[in-house]
Amino acid sequence: MAISVAIIGSGPAGFYAADAITKSVDDPVIDIIERLPTPYGLIRGGVAPDHQTTKKVAKKFEKTALQAGIRYFGNVEVGRDVTLDELHEIYDAVILAVGAPADRVLSIPGADKAGVHGSAAFVGWYNGHPDFVELEPDLNIETAVVIGNGNVALDIGRVLVRSKAGRAKTDLPPYARDAMDASPIKDVYLLGRRGPLEAKFTNVELREMLDLSECAPVVDAADLPDSVPDDMEDRAKRLAEKNLETLKAFAERDPNAMPKRAHFGFYAKPVEILGDDRVAGIRIERTRVEDGQAVGTGETYDIPCQLVVAAIGYRAEPIPGLPYDERQGIIPNDKGKIADGLYAVGWIKRGPSGVISSSRPDGVEVAEHIAADFPSGGSKPGRDRLAALLDERDVRVVHFEDWKALDEEEEARAEQPQPRHKFTAIDDMIEHLEGRE
Ligand SMILES: Cc1cc2nc3c(=O)[nH]c(=O)nc-3n(C[C@H](O)[C@H](O)[C@H](O)COP(=O)(O)OP(=O)(O)OC[C@H]3O[C@@H](n4cnc5c(N)ncnc54)[C@H](O)[C@@H]3O)c2cc1C
Repeated sequence: MAISVAIIGSGPAGFYAADAITKSVDDPVIDIIERLPTPYGLIRGGVAPDHQTTKKVAKKFEKTALQAGIRYFGNVEVGRDVTLDELHEIYDAVILAVGAPADRVLSIPGADKAGVHGSAAFVGWYNGHPDFVELEPDLNIETAVVIGNGNVALDIGRVLVRSKAGRAKTDLPPYARDAMDASPIKDVYLLGRRGPLEAKFTNVELREMLDLSECAPVVDAADLPDSVPDDMEDRAKRLAEKNLETLKAFAERDPNAMPKRAHFGFYAKPVEILGDDRVAGIRIERTRVEDGQAVGTGETYDIPCQLVVAAIGYRAEPIPGLPYDERQGIIPNDKGKIADGLYAVGWIKRGPSGVISSSRPDGVEVAEHIAADFPSGGSKPGRDRLAALLDERDVRVVHFEDWKALDEEEEARAEQPQPRHKFTAIDDMIEHLEGRE
């Protein structure tokens, strides 16, 4: 009998796993179960709306979805519509590919004030993720602070200071684009607790700040070392050298040459959000770096601002019935294996770091486990039982052909040069699909 596999989550990790399993096992039956009607996880809901080329990787995953033996079950949430235990009973192998969707919490006094958001929520909002459409951050502001020194912080800062013409080429949903276009924002601060050598920005993204048509990148030359120390590990050293060169180019720019500015603040540890009910500023403690760690100096200064976004990382959510590693924010696993017939890939397995393709080896690894764990094929019914169960429960499953109808509609209703006009409410997606039937 064919091995039946349920993959929970249709982000990159889920699709890489599906693809790898088709190559390591004979004629598997693979069902990809996704809580949203729309596939692709953070490619749709995380990757910046002005990075359309990156989003094109979804085309590759579309080919996987259309392979014989693979079926997409969208709009089905594990834990709500079907339980993990049920899937474990029905399928030979169950793979968790649910990502790490929660924000790491900013725990400083005042972090609960209005106008302070986590990056998962803020990015989800501007990417039209149905969970965050109602965030409606107040962008009637002049200054925003983004806490974090990685690409997510850069994405947020860049999207906020882009020109109207630049935003018109994105797939920002109209509510987010209108709010940003109407925003009088002039300054964005990107703050890192450590120095420029420790920043996690990839260099391509950092250099992009030099190409913005309305915003000058700004950095204090005094924060930039002359060179990178020799004792750094090779890869980190190469990145630090490139970033240092780019930051030196920022330092040569005239901050007043453009109407907006993106300030790169290093050695800056947020210690308190200021204001009454709403954020009115942020108090920063100056640090120095010792053995790679930020150490407070006791010297503080304030930055007045009306919006704070904490881009300080993500964490997986605990899954009822499974152990959870609080420190790493993952489900404990041994090279992707959690228990017999239960596996993990992507951010739920490794933690929230790395790019899209970093999940590819997870897929290969889990496919090897499955090939080894089921040498004489499978024994569980899989798909038919799931379909019957969902039918009994009146779940409106969105299959891949339905998603393609949504995809086509999003492209058809976009106004040039916008690449797509996203559906952002699940009800609207279902209504559109029902209208065609
Ligand atoms: C803001 C941001 C920007 C990024 N930009 C880039 C970039 O430009 N380039 C790049 O290479 N990488 C980028 N990344 C990293 C990249 O997105 C991740 O490495 C990758 O998406 C992780 O894949 P994943 O499949 O583990 O998780 P995800 O992409 O999060 O996918 C998890 C999927 O599981 C689904 N799911 C969750 N729970 C359930 C459930 N109970 N039932 C059913 N389905 C469920 C979710 O809806 C989601 O679709 C970015 C990440 C973020 C956060």
